[in-house]
Amino acid sequence: MSALKMSALPYRQMIYADYNSTAPVLKSVAEVMQPYLAECFGNPAADYCRLGVVARDALEEARLNLARLLSANGEEVVFLSGGTESCFHALMGAYLARPEKKHIITSAVEHAAVLRTVELLERPPFNCQVTYLAVDRHGVVCLDELAKAILPKTGIVSIMLANNETGVVMPIARIAEVCRQSDIVLHTDAVQAVGKMPVNFRELDVDLLSVSGHKFGAPKGIGALLVRDAALWRPVVVGGGQENGRRGGTPAVALAVGLGQAAVKADVFLSENGEEKLLSVLEAFESCLRKEISGCFINGSGATRLSNTSSVVFGNIIAKQLVENLSSRNIVISAGAACSAAKLDPSHVLRAMGLSDMECMSTARISFGPNATLDEAVSLAKALAEEVNALRNAAKDEVSRRLC
Ligand code: PLP
Repeated sequence: MSALKMSALPYRQMIYADYNSTAPVLKSVAEVMQPYLAECFGNPAADYCRLGVVARDALEEARLNLARLLSANGEEVVFLSGGTESCFHALMGAYLARPEKKHIITSAVEHAAVLRTVELLERPPFNCQVTYLAVDRHGVVCLDELAKAILPKTGIVSIMLANNETGVVMPIARIAEVCRQSDIVLHTDAVQAVGKMPVNFRELDVDLLSVSGHKFGAPKGIGALLVRDAALWRPVVVGGGQENGRRGGTPAVALAVGLGQAAVKADVFLSENGEEKLLSVLEAFESCLRKEISGCFINGSGATRLSNTSSVVFGNIIAKQLVENLSSRNIVISAGAACSAAKLDPSHVLRAMGLSDMECMSTARISFGPNATLDEAVSLAKALAEEVNALRNAAKDEVSRRLC
């Protein structure tokens, strides 16, 4: 759809249930950013003038706001462009700090931001060995396998906090206990978790944690890496030594201010029981789906999941078709992860959970926003039922036609 047509159709008039792909910028986020896009344009490093001081103060306040949401210290927050860059910095920086530790452990269900980076580290000149931990049928990383996979040369473990496709939450604090015993740096890709569930940097006991702003109400192009111990990590982008020497380049002040405000709003959402309220919406949605659509099932339903995500196997339909049909009714959901939706490749996440190719192809992801309502969830479930049943009937008709 062209930008012009989209502008005639505000997202509030759609059912937008693709928040794990991206979220709208919150109104208050856009408002607090505004001055830093125009009159307060100073370079935070230019603290010899008032403009620079104003920019620096705004950047530092944003850092503290994000740190507060994550129970971290401001000094641990490094601003950068988003989740992909954060995961890259985390892994490459941890490797550079201890290049003699040439074994990395990750999981089979990570996002491409981690998977493509470890593939890079597998090749020359890095020549690391990578072990991919399996997940159980609920999509949870097998802890027993982690202990078995550790070698004397294991330097890094990278396991996501919540999966982008299924919403399944991984036992990171328990993984941290294992890593602590073996002098291993632990990175968690918390891109999908931050803003949706409480994320406590201290309690998770990880060394590195990745955040992306556009998943919870900040603009695209801003994220952060939390670094606990600078001795276990090296900067990857150096340049002018910004971000306390940890990420060169003039900081994106307006975007960082937006991220800080999104963190403030996320704090409010979580402290006002937003997660519990959203969970009741999700439960109503799933029970309506089960009632209206025979044979559908929810991936990861036996595990702890984010309160906004349902990954549904409909069976006997192609989810891509379903997504397109719903899109023409102004309803947005996705088939698999957003980045792989253009291809008809079965999702690596669902395959790792033991789904057949056909089950993978018939899976759609519904990811609600923080303000989703019961009415919206039920309307969506009913629309899904209509479209799934229509697709199933069309497939049956096609089979009968061909058999005649
Ligand atoms: N990690 C996870 C789990 C994600 O879901 C995503 C984006 O979908 C990323 C990393 C990459 O984040 P960004 O889009 O900010 O680069």
